[in-house]
Amino acid sequence: MEIPYKIYLEENEMPKQWYNVRADMKNKPAPLLNAGTHQPATLDELSVVFCEELAKQELDTETAYIDIPEEIIGFYKMYRPSPLVRADCLEKALGTPAKIYYKFEGNNTSGSHKLNSAIAQAYYAKKQGLKGVTTETGAGQWGTALSMACAYFGLDCKVFMVKVSYEQKPFRREVMRTYGANVTPSPSDTTEIGRKILEQFPGTTGSLGCAISEAVEVAVKSEGYRYVLGSVLNQVLLHQSVIGLETMTACDKFGIKPDTIIGCAGGGSNLGGLISPFMGRKLRGEADYEFIAVEPASCPSFTRGKYAYDFCDTGKVCPLAKMYTLGSGFIPSANHAGGLRYHGMSSTLSQLYDDGLITARSVEQTSVFAAAQQFARIEGILPAPESSHAIRVAIDEALKCKETGEEKTIVFGLTGTGYFDMVAYQKFNDGEMSDYIPTDEEIAKSLANLPQV
Ligand SMILES: *Cc1c(COP(=O)(O)O)cnc(C)c1O
Repeated sequence: MEIPYKIYLEENEMPKQWYNVRADMKNKPAPLLNAGTHQPATLDELSVVFCEELAKQELDTETAYIDIPEEIIGFYKMYRPSPLVRADCLEKALGTPAKIYYKFEGNNTSGSHKLNSAIAQAYYAKKQGLKGVTTETGAGQWGTALSMACAYFGLDCKVFMVKVSYEQKPFRREVMRTYGANVTPSPSDTTEIGRKILEQFPGTTGSLGCAISEAVEVAVKSEGYRYVLGSVLNQVLLHQSVIGLETMTACDKFGIKPDTIIGCAGGGSNLGGLISPFMGRKLRGEADYEFIAVEPASCPSFTRGKYAYDFCDTGKVCPLAKMYTLGSGFIPSANHAGGLRYHGMSSTLSQLYDDGLITARSVEQTSVFAAAQQFARIEGILPAPESSHAIRVAIDEALKCKETGEEKTIVFGLTGTGYFDMVAYQKFNDGEMSDYIPTDEEIAKSLANLPQV
């Protein structure tokens, strides 16, 4: 069968179940712990903060396949299946014998893969009879995706947006408001924690950790509200498995056998979603793949972090997670890939990495933008800075093949588009972008404050 350059599956080939890779892991990811008692968090405890069905998914390490509700499949059909594209022009330009494919998740208004989980989380909130949900957003992709999902199900959506992004990315904010979300710059005077932080640090431009604390406070204190999160959690990886399942179906259909699968890693949701079904085959001994997580050199959780229990937020209101972490007090430099500036990592991916089943690399932002520019000029799509981390390593791998003559097949996740990141592109185009890499002392100082578990 001839392989088309853009593989679109038929609607009836879309997955009807999500795949839970934890079911096939011998070493399960460590459980979330109650931050006060250090005992495994129970369903009842988690259900105060999260929707009940989502809390169940969070704790489920045994069920391999979970049905995707009809309503969610219906929404997925508006923008899925997403294409698996042969980067033919890029291969030719690089002169590599490698075959490069990318799974493109930027074909929806939110511009990233985050909608795959946003719609699932909004659905379960609606089904539970809630009035609305609260969340935080840094760069704005998650807040946008959640706003779209809440509009679809008629849910109220309260987004705490890190103040510096709120001011610097007014268009992201307006997209959210267009979808009906209530967007508050964080820290704000609408919450106790926000007022406390404003008193302590007047003039602060905010942080993700603070925004999480505000969102959780509002969810817990408001009748009929729960808090939702766009990455890191097991439930998010589960929903994002739709990316990997589609990729696998497309590969199997056309006899494509990936050797190397690459994704950028912020909290780990797109990478986890892309590799999960392939990892399942590897864990069951049915096939072998090389998996590469790519992170920014400015926020190197896998490559320089420690595998330990840590707080998920700077406000320390969430349960503790065992993960590769730089410490919850780690403030990454102002890297332009906002979606990759998280101090920790998915606990599932952390366990897989610790078991040697995935590898990780860190890359510097100027080299990432050079790859982004090259990709945009050759393949046409203007990539998000986050996604461009994967492009960087895909190109590096393809260039290695040019030296060795190896005809390997590379698949990478192109998680989104970069239209709201033009200030970053401007810096790069003007030659004003710099690379900041934290020193060992900085990381050690932050890791010294890990909770004693
Ligand atoms: C949020 C985001 C990421 C990183 O988040 P993960 O949970 O690690 O996938 C990557 N790419 C884009 C476009 C994003 O919006």
